[in-house]
Amino acid sequence: MILILDNRITQKQKEELKSILSRDGCITREIADAGRTIIGIIANNKKSAEEYRQMEGIRDALAIKSAYKLVSREFKSEDTMVKIGNVVVGGDRIVVIAGPCAVESRTQAMTIAKEVKKYGAVLFRGGAYKPRSSPYSFQGLEEEGLKILDHVRKETGLGVVTEITSPAQAELMEKYVDAVQIGARNMQNFELLKCVGKMSKPVVLKRGLASTIQEWLMSAEYIMAGGNNDVILCERGIRTFEPYTRNTLDLSAIPVLKKLTHLPIVIDPSHATGIREKVSPMARAAVAAGADALMIEVHNDPDNALSDGPQSLYPEQFGQLTRDLYVIAPVVGKQMDFDYLKKSEVIKELGKGAAKTAAFIGENGSYGHKASLSYFGEDVTPISMVSYRDIFNACQSGSVEYGVIPVENSLSGSIHENFDLLQEYDLKIIGEVTIRIKHALIAHEATDKTAIKKLLASPPAFSQCRNFLDQHPGIEPLPVKANASAARHVKESDDTTAAAVGTAMEADLFDLKVIDDSIEDNPRNYTRFAVIAKEYKGKKKVGKTSIIFSTGNKPGALYEVMKIFSLYGINLVKLESRPILGKPWEYMFYADLEADILSDTLSPMMVELEGKSEFFRILGRY
Ligand code: PEP
Ligand code: MN
Repeated sequence: MILILDNRITQKQKEELKSILSRDGCITREIADAGRTIIGIIANNKKSAEEYRQMEGIRDALAIKSAYKLVSREFKSEDTMVKIGNVVVGGDRIVVIAGPCAVESRTQAMTIAKEVKKYGAVLFRGGAYKPRSSPYSFQGLEEEGLKILDHVRKETGLGVVTEITSPAQAELMEKYVDAVQIGARNMQNFELLKCVGKMSKPVVLKRGLASTIQEWLMSAEYIMAGGNNDVILCERGIRTFEPYTRNTLDLSAIPVLKKLTHLPIVIDPSHATGIREKVSPMARAAVAAGADALMIEVHNDPDNALSDGPQSLYPEQFGQLTRDLYVIAPVVGKQMDFDYLKKSEVIKELGKGAAKTAAFIGENGSYGHKASLSYFGEDVTPISMVSYRDIFNACQSGSVEYGVIPVENSLSGSIHENFDLLQEYDLKIIGEVTIRIKHALIAHEATDKTAIKKLLASPPAFSQCRNFLDQHPGIEPLPVKANASAARHVKESDDTTAAAVGTAMEADLFDLKVIDDSIEDNPRNYTRFAVIAKEYKGKKKVGKTSIIFSTGNKPGALYEVMKIFSLYGINLVKLESRPILGKPWEYMFYADLEADILSDTLSPMMVELEGKSEFFRILGRY
């Protein structure tokens, strides 16, 4: 049973309610969810929903139908994010966990850790206690292996994950690692589940070799009932009659679980397929299907690995895979962030004094809001602003740490206002993030698609949804200033014949439903956002430089500058001109280069560039 408390409940009423429940012998848990306070009665309930509804301070009471309570979506509607060190599993950023099946030596673990980190892994995994089918196979380095993992963390900054096979190891695990894994063979080892339920570390719970999703969720319930809320579910393939792969990867478990539970999901394509060449295709599919994280076995010398060599990727293959994930993730509203760890360090550093806020344009739920969450994760608070200039002013004055501004859309081109503001203000581009623009059709819960008579959206959104409007001539388009205000108008109007064009996040925030996931004409609709700040604190690998420059108004002037880039073999990924205010027919050029032009090797080029341009400024290196 879940009791949704009245927002106006007094502390006294709440205490009374809790003492009634405790007198009745109920086992309860209190959580905050979607702005509501909820008391869940997870065992020994004595009353009906109707009886609870009559009680003071209770807005609603709903019976939880499933056998699992704490892990269910009915109990908690919002996605759970599990933090392992600085890494959040379940947010907008795909978390890649990688490493060898077993820790074999300090050198082996360090070699692989450095490789996987280079290619974008943010957590390191390696077994110290190995549950092997044969008692004669390598059983792991045990405590020595944990010490090596601890060493890897200290040297690389990667959080470490390892398997716990017995409650007797709990103390050592608490000491040396950041998260524990329950292996497939132990999914229903209830004493072990109770043990990790009492631990202070997050738990990666693998699905049993032949377990149903319901049994798996009941095991997760054991851990949460024990008091540990940081549970991540790991699908690693199940036994079927199919012999061509080691197991059968049940990717349909992802959408099934997303409906049933709020817990994040990691996919392990290595144990699922057991064959190296099958791992990357299934990893790509897992991200496309909505996985929050991947756990991949990587080995520098798989032929001589002490366990699971045939399914381990070579580091370079792992690198190829993460590049693919970088492209796939935005399609499903996520990011593969190669700067994740460096960013987390900088943000943690900032936390020591300054505000950790990022300004975006529009209301909550807008694409700017999403871009801020995708770039920074949850550690930086997105702040809504009404104009781009407000964002620049806020960054310049220091009232926010960062700004997130759209600079370019794949269909409609550059957002010129922001290029002009970049020229006007002395701020730096410190990063970029690309978001897929997906226009959802959203309306009240009671609205039927056939009953929609009006559609509210911003003018650019209408221009991107022409086919939908053509196919629905009975729907009248009503322009509003911004998409997020469209959702708000629909919410506030109580009009069940009105719908808005918006994001799924807005639908969530305004308690509306998504009728159609995407109604835009062209699904290849992406917006690139630049992240701006007064300066970048901390060290960072630079792959791109944005510059602005002007040349004299004489023949071949631009060509002279382009020639320099060509001579130094620099790839230009954007070149755009903007008129210079007050100087008719004279232009400022914006360019993005795939290079760090302040690197030592390019210093002669800088001298040449400055010689050939009248004005030259670096807008950012990131
Ligand atoms: C492992 O992760 O190395 C492992 C033994 O996995 P599973 O429990 O899924 O077989
Ligand atoms: Mn393994």
